[in-house]
Amino acid sequence: MAAKRDYYEVLGVNRNASEDELKKQYRRLALKYHPDKNPDDQDAEEKFKEAAEAYEVLRDPQKRQIYDQFGHQGLEGAGFSGVGGFEDIFSSFGDIFEDLFGFGSGRRGRSRTRPGADLRYDLSLEFMEAAFGTETKININKAETCPSCKGSRCESGRHPETCHHCGGSGQVGRSQGFFTIRTTCPVCRGGGKVIAHPCKQCEGAGQVMVNKSVSVKIPAGVDTGSRLRLTGEGETSPSGGPPGDLYVFIHVKPHKIFQRNNTDVISSIQISFIQAALGDTITVPTLEGEEQLAIPRGTQYGDTFRLQGKGIQSLRGYQRGDQIIQVDVRTPTNLNKKQEALLNEFAKIETEKFSNKLKNILKGQASKIAH
Ligand SMILES: [Zn+2]
Ligand SMILES: [Zn+2]
Repeated sequence: MAAKRDYYEVLGVNRNASEDELKKQYRRLALKYHPDKNPDDQDAEEKFKEAAEAYEVLRDPQKRQIYDQFGHQGLEGAGFSGVGGFEDIFSSFGDIFEDLFGFGSGRRGRSRTRPGADLRYDLSLEFMEAAFGTETKININKAETCPSCKGSRCESGRHPETCHHCGGSGQVGRSQGFFTIRTTCPVCRGGGKVIAHPCKQCEGAGQVMVNKSVSVKIPAGVDTGSRLRLTGEGETSPSGGPPGDLYVFIHVKPHKIFQRNNTDVISSIQISFIQAALGDTITVPTLEGEEQLAIPRGTQYGDTFRLQGKGIQSLRGYQRGDQIIQVDVRTPTNLNKKQEALLNEFAKIETEKFSNKLKNILKGQASKIAH
Protein backbone atom coordinates (compact mmCIF):
# COMPACT_ATOMS: atom_id res chain seq x y z
CA MET A 1 0.00 0.00 0.00
CA ALA A 2 1.29 3.40 -0.94
CA ALA A 3 2.18 5.90 1.75
CA LYS A 4 -0.73 8.00 2.89
CA ARG A 5 -0.96 11.52 1.55
CA ASP A 6 -1.15 14.47 3.87
CA TYR A 7 -4.78 15.20 4.79
CA TYR A 8 -4.48 18.92 4.11
CA GLU A 9 -2.97 18.17 0.73
CA VAL A 10 -5.79 15.72 -0.02
CA LEU A 11 -8.39 18.39 0.63
CA GLY A 12 -6.29 21.09 -1.02
CA VAL A 13 -6.44 23.46 1.95
CA ASN A 14 -3.72 25.03 4.06
CA ARG A 15 -2.99 23.91 7.59
CA ASN A 16 -4.99 26.60 9.32
CA ALA A 17 -8.10 26.13 7.18
CA SER A 18 -11.33 26.89 8.99
CA GLU A 19 -14.08 24.37 9.48
CA ASP A 20 -16.03 26.08 6.74
CA GLU A 21 -13.21 25.89 4.26
CA LEU A 22 -12.73 22.20 5.04
CA LYS A 23 -16.38 21.51 4.52
CA LYS A 24 -16.53 23.45 1.30
CA GLN A 25 -13.45 21.79 -0.13
CA TYR A 26 -14.56 18.34 0.93
CA ARG A 27 -17.95 18.90 -0.57
CA ARG A 28 -16.35 19.86 -3.87
CA LEU A 29 -14.14 16.78 -3.96
CA ALA A 30 -16.87 14.42 -2.84
CA LEU A 31 -19.16 15.64 -5.59
CA LYS A 32 -16.38 15.30 -8.14
CA TYR A 33 -15.35 11.77 -7.18
CA HIS A 34 -18.70 10.49 -6.03
CA PRO A 35 -19.14 6.86 -7.19
CA ASP A 36 -22.52 7.69 -8.68
CA LYS A 37 -20.84 10.07 -11.07
CA ASN A 38 -17.84 7.83 -11.71
CA PRO A 39 -19.14 4.29 -12.06
CA ASP A 40 -16.41 1.64 -12.16
CA ASP A 41 -13.64 4.20 -11.81
CA GLN A 42 -11.15 2.77 -9.35
CA ASP A 43 -9.12 5.97 -9.18
CA ALA A 44 -12.16 8.12 -8.41
CA GLU A 45 -13.21 5.67 -5.73
CA GLU A 46 -9.80 5.93 -4.07
CA LYS A 47 -9.86 9.70 -4.23
CA PHE A 48 -13.34 9.74 -2.82
CA LYS A 49 -12.33 7.58 0.10
CA GLU A 50 -9.19 9.58 0.66
CA ALA A 51 -11.13 12.83 0.86
CA ALA A 52 -13.73 11.31 3.18
CA GLU A 53 -11.04 10.09 5.53
CA ALA A 54 -9.20 13.42 5.53
CA TYR A 55 -12.39 15.29 6.24
CA GLU A 56 -13.46 12.90 8.97
CA VAL A 57 -10.19 13.58 10.76
CA LEU A 58 -9.82 17.30 10.21
CA ARG A 59 -13.38 18.23 11.09
CA ASP A 60 -12.90 16.69 14.53
CA PRO A 61 -10.84 19.18 16.60
CA GLN A 62 -9.39 16.41 18.79
CA LYS A 63 -8.35 14.22 15.88
CA ARG A 64 -7.06 17.23 14.01
CA GLN A 65 -4.84 18.16 16.91
CA ILE A 66 -3.43 14.65 17.15
CA TYR A 67 -2.83 14.64 13.42
CA ASP A 68 -1.20 18.08 13.44
CA GLN A 69 1.20 16.98 16.15
CA PHE A 70 1.92 13.35 15.34
CA GLY A 71 0.70 12.74 11.78
CA HIS A 72 -0.88 9.51 10.55
CA GLN A 73 0.97 7.39 13.07
CA GLY A 74 -0.39 9.45 15.91
CA LEU A 75 -3.94 8.68 14.80
CA GLU A 76 -3.28 4.97 14.56
CA GLY A 77 -1.84 5.12 18.05
CA ALA A 78 -5.00 6.82 19.22
CA GLY A 79 -7.09 3.95 17.78
CA PHE A 80 -8.30 5.62 14.64
CA SER A 81 -7.65 3.41 11.67
CA GLY A 82 -8.76 4.93 8.42
CA VAL A 83 -11.89 4.15 6.51
CA GLY A 84 -12.89 0.82 5.01
CA GLY A 85 -15.13 0.17 2.05
CA PHE A 86 -17.97 2.26 0.77
CA GLU A 87 -20.44 0.85 3.22
CA ASP A 88 -18.17 2.05 5.95
CA ILE A 89 -17.80 5.52 4.59
CA PHE A 90 -21.49 5.97 4.12
CA SER A 91 -22.50 4.52 7.42
CA SER A 92 -20.04 6.53 9.45
CA PHE A 93 -20.56 9.67 7.42
CA GLY A 94 -24.29 9.42 7.11
CA ASP A 95 -24.87 12.68 8.88
CA ILE A 96 -22.29 14.57 6.91
CA PHE A 97 -23.73 13.33 3.68
CA GLU A 98 -27.23 14.19 4.58
CA ASP A 99 -25.93 17.56 5.65
CA LEU A 100 -23.85 18.11 2.54
CA PHE A 101 -25.91 16.64 -0.22
CA GLY A 102 -29.33 15.99 1.16
CA PHE A 103 -29.21 12.38 0.06
CA GLY A 104 -32.31 10.51 0.78
CA SER A 105 -34.45 13.56 1.00
CA GLY A 106 -36.87 14.55 -1.67
CA ARG A 107 -39.37 12.06 -2.93
CA ARG A 108 -39.60 9.55 -0.21
CA GLY A 109 -43.17 9.95 0.90
CA ARG A 110 -45.10 12.18 3.24
CA SER A 111 -44.09 10.36 6.38
CA ARG A 112 -40.57 11.72 6.16
CA THR A 113 -41.49 15.38 6.02
CA ARG A 114 -40.36 17.32 9.00
CA PRO A 115 -41.43 20.77 10.11
CA GLY A 116 -38.95 23.63 9.69
CA ALA A 117 -36.74 24.55 12.60
CA ASP A 118 -38.06 26.69 15.42
CA LEU A 119 -36.19 29.92 16.04
CA ARG A 120 -35.40 31.88 19.17
CA TYR A 121 -35.09 35.65 19.41
CA ASP A 122 -34.15 37.48 22.61
CA LEU A 123 -35.94 40.80 22.82
CA SER A 124 -35.05 43.56 25.29
CA LEU A 125 -37.91 45.84 26.33
CA GLU A 126 -38.11 49.03 28.34
CA PHE A 127 -40.00 48.70 31.62
CA MET A 128 -42.93 50.76 30.32
CA GLU A 129 -43.12 48.85 27.03
CA ALA A 130 -43.52 45.64 29.01
CA ALA A 131 -46.07 47.20 31.35
CA PHE A 132 -48.33 48.60 28.65
CA GLY A 133 -47.49 46.46 25.62
CA THR A 134 -46.04 47.61 22.34
CA GLU A 135 -45.50 46.65 18.75
CA THR A 136 -42.00 46.29 17.40
CA LYS A 137 -40.12 44.94 14.42
CA ILE A 138 -37.34 42.41 14.82
CA ASN A 139 -34.82 41.19 12.29
CA ILE A 140 -34.12 37.50 12.13
CA ASN A 141 -31.84 35.37 10.02
CA LYS A 142 -33.57 32.27 8.88
CA ALA A 143 -33.53 29.58 6.25
CA GLU A 144 -36.12 29.92 3.55
CA THR A 145 -36.87 27.91 0.46
CA CYS A 146 -34.21 28.70 -2.18
CA PRO A 147 -35.73 31.08 -4.74
CA SER A 148 -33.53 29.68 -7.51
CA CYS A 149 -34.44 25.98 -7.30
CA LYS A 150 -37.67 26.45 -5.33
CA GLY A 151 -36.40 23.87 -2.88
CA SER A 152 -35.76 21.12 -5.47
CA ARG A 153 -32.01 21.36 -4.68
CA CYS A 154 -31.13 20.76 -8.32
CA GLU A 155 -29.56 23.04 -10.87
CA SER A 156 -32.09 24.56 -13.23
CA GLY A 157 -33.23 21.93 -15.76
CA ARG A 158 -31.81 19.06 -13.71
CA HIS A 159 -33.67 16.59 -11.62
CA PRO A 160 -32.71 14.22 -8.87
CA GLU A 161 -31.13 11.21 -10.57
CA THR A 162 -31.64 7.55 -9.98
CA CYS A 163 -29.18 6.26 -7.40
CA HIS A 164 -26.55 4.05 -9.09
CA HIS A 165 -25.66 2.31 -5.91
CA CYS A 166 -29.04 0.66 -5.49
CA GLY A 167 -30.50 1.18 -8.96
CA GLY A 168 -33.19 3.37 -7.48
CA SER A 169 -34.71 0.75 -5.23
CA GLY A 170 -33.41 2.37 -2.10
CA GLN A 171 -32.18 -1.01 -0.89
CA VAL A 172 -28.98 -2.97 -1.27
CA GLY A 173 -28.39 -6.67 -0.78
CA ARG A 174 -25.39 -8.19 0.90
CA SER A 175 -24.65 -11.93 0.95
CA GLN A 176 -24.04 -13.40 4.30
CA GLY A 177 -23.52 -17.13 3.98
CA PHE A 178 -26.67 -18.49 2.37
CA PHE A 179 -28.66 -15.38 2.98
CA THR A 180 -28.86 -12.07 1.30
CA ILE A 181 -29.54 -9.32 3.75
CA ARG A 182 -31.26 -6.31 2.33
CA THR A 183 -30.55 -2.98 3.97
CA THR A 184 -31.34 0.64 3.24
CA CYS A 185 -29.07 2.01 0.52
CA PRO A 186 -26.38 4.06 2.25
CA VAL A 187 -25.89 6.37 -0.73
CA CYS A 188 -29.46 7.58 -1.22
CA ARG A 189 -30.52 6.53 2.27
CA GLY A 190 -33.53 4.72 0.91
CA GLY A 191 -34.83 7.48 -1.31
CA GLY A 192 -33.64 5.93 -4.58
CA LYS A 193 -32.58 9.33 -5.92
CA VAL A 194 -29.47 11.45 -5.59
CA ILE A 195 -28.75 15.03 -6.48
CA ALA A 196 -25.74 15.02 -8.77
CA HIS A 197 -26.12 18.60 -10.00
CA PRO A 198 -26.95 20.70 -6.98
CA CYS A 199 -28.39 24.19 -7.32
CA LYS A 200 -25.60 26.77 -7.32
CA GLN A 201 -27.38 29.35 -5.21
CA CYS A 202 -28.14 27.09 -2.27
CA GLU A 203 -25.39 24.51 -2.94
CA GLY A 204 -28.01 21.81 -3.03
CA ALA A 205 -29.44 22.59 0.38
CA GLY A 206 -32.80 23.68 -1.07
CA GLN A 207 -32.75 26.61 1.34
CA VAL A 208 -30.91 29.90 1.66
CA MET A 209 -30.40 32.18 4.63
CA VAL A 210 -32.40 35.38 4.51
CA ASN A 211 -32.74 38.33 6.84
CA LYS A 212 -36.37 39.02 7.52
CA SER A 213 -38.16 41.73 9.43
CA VAL A 214 -40.99 40.39 11.56
CA SER A 215 -43.58 42.52 13.33
CA VAL A 216 -44.19 41.44 16.92
CA LYS A 217 -47.12 42.54 19.05
CA ILE A 218 -46.14 42.59 22.71
CA PRO A 219 -49.13 42.28 25.05
CA ALA A 220 -49.28 44.43 28.19
CA GLY A 221 -47.90 42.67 31.25
CA VAL A 222 -45.04 40.65 29.81
CA ASP A 223 -42.06 40.21 32.09
CA THR A 224 -38.55 38.82 31.91
CA GLY A 225 -39.00 35.12 31.16
CA SER A 226 -42.19 35.61 29.14
CA ARG A 227 -42.08 33.79 25.82
CA LEU A 228 -44.16 34.71 22.80
CA ARG A 229 -44.77 32.19 20.08
CA LEU A 230 -45.21 33.33 16.49
CA THR A 231 -46.66 30.38 14.70
CA GLY A 232 -45.15 29.69 11.29
CA GLU A 233 -42.50 32.42 11.54
CA GLY A 234 -39.66 29.90 11.98
CA GLU A 235 -37.65 28.34 9.17
CA THR A 236 -39.31 26.77 6.18
CA SER A 237 -39.18 23.00 6.05
CA PRO A 238 -36.61 21.52 3.67
CA SER A 239 -38.79 18.47 3.20
CA GLY A 240 -42.15 20.04 2.42
CA GLY A 241 -43.43 20.05 5.99
CA PRO A 242 -44.94 23.02 7.81
CA PRO A 243 -42.68 25.92 8.80
CA GLY A 244 -41.31 26.11 12.34
CA ASP A 245 -42.30 28.68 14.94
CA LEU A 246 -40.49 31.76 16.17
CA TYR A 247 -40.16 32.11 19.94
CA VAL A 248 -39.52 35.59 21.28
CA PHE A 249 -37.95 35.56 24.76
CA ILE A 250 -38.62 38.76 26.69
CA HIS A 251 -36.06 40.55 28.83
CA VAL A 252 -37.29 43.65 30.67
CA LYS A 253 -34.75 46.36 31.47
CA PRO A 254 -34.72 47.76 35.00
CA HIS A 255 -36.42 51.11 35.71
CA LYS A 256 -34.97 53.97 37.77
CA ILE A 257 -38.03 54.31 39.99
CA PHE A 258 -40.15 51.20 39.66
CA GLN A 259 -39.53 47.56 40.36
CA ARG A 260 -41.84 44.69 39.69
CA ASN A 261 -43.21 41.85 41.72
CA ASN A 262 -45.42 39.97 39.27
CA THR A 263 -48.21 42.45 38.58
CA ASP A 264 -47.40 44.73 41.51
CA VAL A 265 -45.18 47.74 41.05
CA ILE A 266 -42.93 48.69 43.93
CA SER A 267 -41.47 52.16 44.49
CA SER A 268 -40.10 54.02 47.47
CA ILE A 269 -40.58 57.57 48.61
CA GLN A 270 -38.50 59.71 50.93
CA ILE A 271 -40.23 61.91 53.53
CA SER A 272 -38.78 63.98 56.36
CA PHE A 273 -39.29 62.94 59.97
CA ILE A 274 -41.46 66.04 60.37
CA GLN A 275 -43.79 64.83 57.57
CA ALA A 276 -43.74 61.39 59.16
CA ALA A 277 -44.64 62.76 62.55
CA LEU A 278 -47.24 65.37 61.55
CA GLY A 279 -48.60 63.77 58.36
CA ASP A 280 -48.66 65.39 54.92
CA THR A 281 -49.93 65.04 51.39
CA ILE A 282 -47.15 64.28 48.95
CA THR A 283 -46.77 63.74 45.22
CA VAL A 284 -45.75 60.24 44.11
CA PRO A 285 -44.89 58.94 40.65
CA THR A 286 -47.08 56.17 39.24
CA LEU A 287 -46.93 54.33 35.92
CA GLU A 288 -49.40 56.82 34.49
CA GLY A 289 -48.05 60.04 35.96
CA GLU A 290 -48.04 61.76 39.32
CA GLU A 291 -50.58 61.27 42.04
CA GLN A 292 -51.29 62.67 45.50
CA LEU A 293 -50.75 60.41 48.49
CA ALA A 294 -51.87 61.27 52.05
CA ILE A 295 -49.26 60.35 54.66
CA PRO A 296 -50.96 59.95 58.03
CA ARG A 297 -49.51 61.24 61.30
CA GLY A 298 -47.03 58.91 62.96
CA THR A 299 -45.87 57.15 59.81
CA GLN A 300 -42.85 54.93 60.48
CA TYR A 301 -39.84 54.04 58.39
CA GLY A 302 -40.70 51.00 56.24
CA ASP A 303 -44.47 51.56 56.31
CA THR A 304 -46.09 50.80 52.97
CA PHE A 305 -49.00 52.35 51.13
CA ARG A 306 -50.97 50.61 48.44
CA LEU A 307 -52.42 52.30 45.38
CA GLN A 308 -54.98 49.82 44.18
CA GLY A 309 -55.11 48.99 40.49
CA LYS A 310 -52.07 51.14 39.73
CA GLY A 311 -49.83 48.17 39.00
CA ILE A 312 -49.36 46.11 35.87
CA GLN A 313 -51.98 44.41 33.73
CA SER A 314 -52.07 40.66 34.25
CA LEU A 315 -51.17 38.68 31.14
CA ARG A 316 -53.94 36.24 32.02
CA GLY A 317 -57.21 37.93 32.81
CA TYR A 318 -58.24 41.51 33.31
CA GLN A 319 -56.99 42.35 36.77
CA ARG A 320 -54.32 44.91 37.34
CA GLY A 321 -51.83 44.75 40.18
CA ASP A 322 -51.25 47.47 42.76
CA GLN A 323 -48.51 49.99 43.32
CA ILE A 324 -46.84 49.55 46.67
CA ILE A 325 -45.02 52.57 48.05
CA GLN A 326 -42.41 52.02 50.74
CA VAL A 327 -41.67 54.93 53.05
CA ASP A 328 -38.13 56.00 53.73
CA VAL A 329 -37.97 58.52 56.61
CA ARG A 330 -35.00 60.86 56.39
CA THR A 331 -33.32 62.46 59.37
CA PRO A 332 -32.46 66.14 58.86
CA THR A 333 -28.82 67.19 58.71
CA ASN A 334 -27.10 70.61 58.78
CA LEU A 335 -29.46 72.06 61.42
CA ASN A 336 -29.14 75.78 62.15
CA LYS A 337 -29.07 77.18 65.70
CA LYS A 338 -32.79 77.85 65.86
CA GLN A 339 -33.72 74.38 64.61
CA GLU A 340 -31.32 72.83 67.08
CA ALA A 341 -32.80 74.90 69.95
CA LEU A 342 -36.31 73.82 68.96
CA LEU A 343 -35.29 70.19 68.81
CA ASN A 344 -33.66 70.48 72.23
CA GLU A 345 -36.90 71.96 73.53
CA PHE A 346 -38.74 69.10 71.87
CA ALA A 347 -36.39 66.59 73.48
CA LYS A 348 -36.92 68.14 76.92
CA ILE A 349 -40.69 67.76 76.59
CA GLU A 350 -40.25 64.17 75.45
CA THR A 351 -38.11 63.45 78.54
CA GLU A 352 -40.68 65.05 80.85
CA LYS A 353 -43.45 63.05 79.19
CA PHE A 354 -41.42 59.91 79.69
CA SER A 355 -40.53 60.56 83.34
CA ASN A 356 -44.15 61.45 84.17
CA LYS A 357 -45.28 58.23 82.58
CA LEU A 358 -42.65 56.31 84.53
CA LYS A 359 -43.72 58.02 87.79
CA ASN A 360 -47.32 57.02 87.13
CA ILE A 361 -46.33 53.42 86.55
CA LEU A 362 -44.21 53.33 89.71
CA LYS A 363 -47.05 54.98 91.68
CA GLY A 364 -49.44 52.35 90.44
CA GLN A 365 -47.10 49.56 91.48
CA ALA A 366 -46.49 51.15 94.87
CA SER A 367 -50.21 51.33 95.56
CA LYS A 368 -50.57 47.69 94.48
CA ILE A 369 -47.92 46.66 97.00
CA ALA A 370 -49.54 48.74 99.74
CA HIS A 371 -52.80 46.83 99.34
ZN1 LIG B 1 -31.37 26.23 -4.70
ZN1 LIG C 1 -29.43 4.21 -3.46
